[in-house]
Amino acid sequence: MPDGAAPAYPTEEADVIVVGAGPAGATTAAYLARYGLSVTMLEKSTFPRDKVCGDGLTPRATRALTRLGIDLSDETQWHRNIGLRSWGVHPYPFEFKWPELTDFPPFGVARARKDFDEVLARFAVAQGAALIEGAAAESPILNDRTGRIEGVVTKDGRRFRAPYVVAADGVSSRLAVAMGITKREDRPMGVAYRTYYRTPKGDDDHLESYLTLWDGEPGKSNQMPGYGWMFPLGGGIANVGLGVLNTGKSVQQTDLRGLLKNWAASAPEAWGYRDAEEIGKIQGAALPMAFNRTPHYGRGLLLVGDSGGMVSPFNGEGIAYAMEAAEAAASAVAEAISRGVGTGSAERAMQAYPAVMKESLGGYYRLGVTFSKLIGDPRIMHLCVKYGLPRKTLMNFVMKLLAHLTDSHDGDATDRIINALSKAVPSV
Ligand SMILES: Cc1cc2nc3c(=O)[nH]c(=O)nc-3n(C[C@H](O)[C@H](O)[C@H](O)COP(=O)(O)OP(=O)(O)OC[C@H]3O[C@@H](n4cnc5c(N)ncnc54)[C@H](O)[C@@H]3O)c2cc1C
Repeated sequence: MPDGAAPAYPTEEADVIVVGAGPAGATTAAYLARYGLSVTMLEKSTFPRDKVCGDGLTPRATRALTRLGIDLSDETQWHRNIGLRSWGVHPYPFEFKWPELTDFPPFGVARARKDFDEVLARFAVAQGAALIEGAAAESPILNDRTGRIEGVVTKDGRRFRAPYVVAADGVSSRLAVAMGITKREDRPMGVAYRTYYRTPKGDDDHLESYLTLWDGEPGKSNQMPGYGWMFPLGGGIANVGLGVLNTGKSVQQTDLRGLLKNWAASAPEAWGYRDAEEIGKIQGAALPMAFNRTPHYGRGLLLVGDSGGMVSPFNGEGIAYAMEAAEAAASAVAEAISRGVGTGSAERAMQAYPAVMKESLGGYYRLGVTFSKLIGDPRIMHLCVKYGLPRKTLMNFVMKLLAHLTDSHDGDATDRIINALSKAVPSV
């Protein structure tokens, strides 16, 4: 072999290659394997690996986990939450219990991503998917004539071939970019930082959000378009962080790491957000929102999760939507393969995936784009927190809207209004 040449490996074949074994990739692989398809998941890192996240899972994510078949019954592993407490400018919080609904369970859970992602990836393997760790996909294998993706080559020169490839490689999605699918500038992006604290709050049964983040002196500067959080993980540990919409220069110039430090240090001493109790590093990452990379299917490539910009512009939640997309993606691929790879009918079956995503989230995310523009104005953010938070009925509505928790059939008046609004606006 000449110096510097990639080692020659035999090409591996599968029905589907999934690039990335985060929540999007592992869930897609698990569903595909259940359909009896051969699936190879390529993951550039090696488990257990961390992922910067708030580790908070609302009832929407809990439903996705249960649908997949993940056992959430061990409360020492999956710390349960029964609602969300929101703090604004008043000395008392607004407390919102997760609603009793037909479509969603009345509890959420939290688990550090270091465990969570490995649990999902191993679950996919137990369903029959192959997981190859330390395999970084570097470039697509393209059909010269059609431009379709037919596999990927990894950094160390291994070749994997399949008629369908899933880009579940996160916010930067090198694979989507290599296929010419770049991110859309007309969609909001967020940015978030988090760390971990040992604190009595770590065993709380509510997620907490803090809606007054100032870019300078509290009360005298601008209110940032975002929120701080404390998500209890159990065992006396909490994930503490903040996320903001990347709306303009003033946000981009703010030192968010410093903001998180100062904000945490200004919490009441009893909460334990002091340097001595900090047990993690402050780390941050971007949040791609409101379908900021489309199309979600084309030329054999599916985008699932952050690669397809599936984070909610309302609250920065991404795991539930990644898992819902994964289920829809796997169903479309299974149908396409059963119709015969390469046929027109298979391609029509694949169009079900972007269509389902648009139908289920397009209108809701369109509302979210408007919401993000509104709260990007510090005056509006301030008015909402000051006058909205003390109003119980209004806040119940807002919380259901932000967490996207409504019944699709026979819901109450709030559910019907939110569902109607999401349908009334054109999809993104
Ligand atoms: C600070 C912060 C807090 C957040 N808090 C929450 C929260 O509390 N709840 C929530 O629901 N969402 C939260 N999110 C959003 C959530 O983290 C993402 O939406 C979610 O991780 C998306 O999952 P994914 O599988 O699409 O991507 P990822 O989780 O990013 O997984 C992508 C995977 O692909 C692998 N990969 C990348 N490139 C390659 C390659 N070339 N070859 C092979 N493998 C590759 C990566 O190693 C990784 O394992 C938060 C985000 C941030 C930044």
